[in-house]
Amino acid sequence: MKAVAVFPKSREVRVIDVPEPRLSSATGVRVRTLEIGVCGTDQEIAEFQHGAPPEGEDHLILGHEALGEVVQVGAQVKGLKVGDLVVPRVRRPCPHEACAACRSGNPDFCVTGDYRERGIQKAHGFCAEFFVEEEAYLHRVPAALRGVAVLTEPLTIAEKALRELEVLKRRLPWKKQPGHAVVLGAGPVGLLGAMALKRAGHDTTVYSRSPKPNAKAAVAEAVGAPYLSSKEVGAEALTGRAGPVDVVYEASGSAKAGFEVLQVLGPNGVFIFTGVPGKKEPLELDGAALLKQLVLKNQLVLGTVNASEADFQAALEDLARFQERWPGQLEAILTERHPPEDFQKVVTGKSGGIKHIIRFA
Ligand SMILES: [Zn+2]
Ligand SMILES: [Zn+2]
Repeated sequence: MKAVAVFPKSREVRVIDVPEPRLSSATGVRVRTLEIGVCGTDQEIAEFQHGAPPEGEDHLILGHEALGEVVQVGAQVKGLKVGDLVVPRVRRPCPHEACAACRSGNPDFCVTGDYRERGIQKAHGFCAEFFVEEEAYLHRVPAALRGVAVLTEPLTIAEKALRELEVLKRRLPWKKQPGHAVVLGAGPVGLLGAMALKRAGHDTTVYSRSPKPNAKAAVAEAVGAPYLSSKEVGAEALTGRAGPVDVVYEASGSAKAGFEVLQVLGPNGVFIFTGVPGKKEPLELDGAALLKQLVLKNQLVLGTVNASEADFQAALEDLARFQERWPGQLEAILTERHPPEDFQKVVTGKSGGIKHIIRFA
C-alpha cells in the first residue's frame, strides 16, 4: 500500500510502498484512511527539526490528524463495527511505572518524555492507505461529520485548553461571565479555538497578521469573532473593543507576537500558549516589567500540548454544534485537498488557503 514517509538520514519525504498492516490483537481495528490533515508539526518533521522514526527504523510514516473508515475488527472489539467512521488519538503512554500521568490515562501530561506519538514521535502515523489501531485509541465519528471530522485533532487543542480554563476559573468564584478572549493567529488551530471560545460564551476577538479582507478573517467574523490585523493595529487595540483581555489563546507559533500580546493581558488573565515557534526570530523582552505585570495582575501563563480521550470526545461534540450554529464555516477552513504524492509540496509550500488535507481513496 501507499504511505507517505520521512527519511531523516537522507533528508527525504516521499511516497513509499509498504505491506498493508494486519490485525495483531483481538482488540485491534483495521481502518481505511480517508483524510489526513497537514499542519505545522508535519512541516517541522519534514524539515527534520522534530520527530523520530520508530526504534530501529530509518523512516517515519507521517500523519497524525486522521479520519478513516473501519474495515475489520478483532474478536473482542465491542464498540466499533465495519463501516464506522473513526478518528484516532495521537499520543501513547510511556512505559514507566512511576509516571502517574500515563498510568492514569493522561499521557498528554506525561512527565518522563518517553511517550510515543503516531506520525510524530517513534510511532508510524496514519498517512497510508490503511492503519491498525487498538479500539481504546479510536473515537467513533457520527456520519454527519464525515466532511469535517478531519478537524477533530486540531480542535482537541482548544478543548484541552478550555478544560484547563474550567479548573482555573475556580480561583475567581465571583466572576460570573466567561469574559473577553483573544485568539492570536488565524490558522486552523486559531479559527477552531475561536469557535470553541465562542461556544463557551467568551466575547472573542481574533488577532492575526494579514489585513482584511481574507478567507481567515471571513471565517472568524462569520462565527461572530471580530478580526483585527496586527499590520493595522497594535496589540493595545485589543483592550479597546471588549474591555480587559481575560484569556489569550495563542495559536500563531510566533514568540514575538505572543510576548507582545502577553503585555496587554488584563488583571487575573490567563495566557495559553499552543504554538511551537518554528523560526528563531530575535526577541527583546523587558523581563523585569513582564514579571512585575504577572505579579501585580495575578496572571497565569500556561502551555498546553496534545489531548486526552475526554478532549477528543468534546471535540466531536463541538464539531456537531459548530456545524449547526455556523453552517459551512468548518468546511470553509478545509480549503485544499491533495493526493498523497503532493505531501512534500503541501508541507513545504507557501501556498495559500487555510487547511490542507491529503485525501486517500
Ligand atoms: Zn497537527
Ligand atoms: Zn509518561
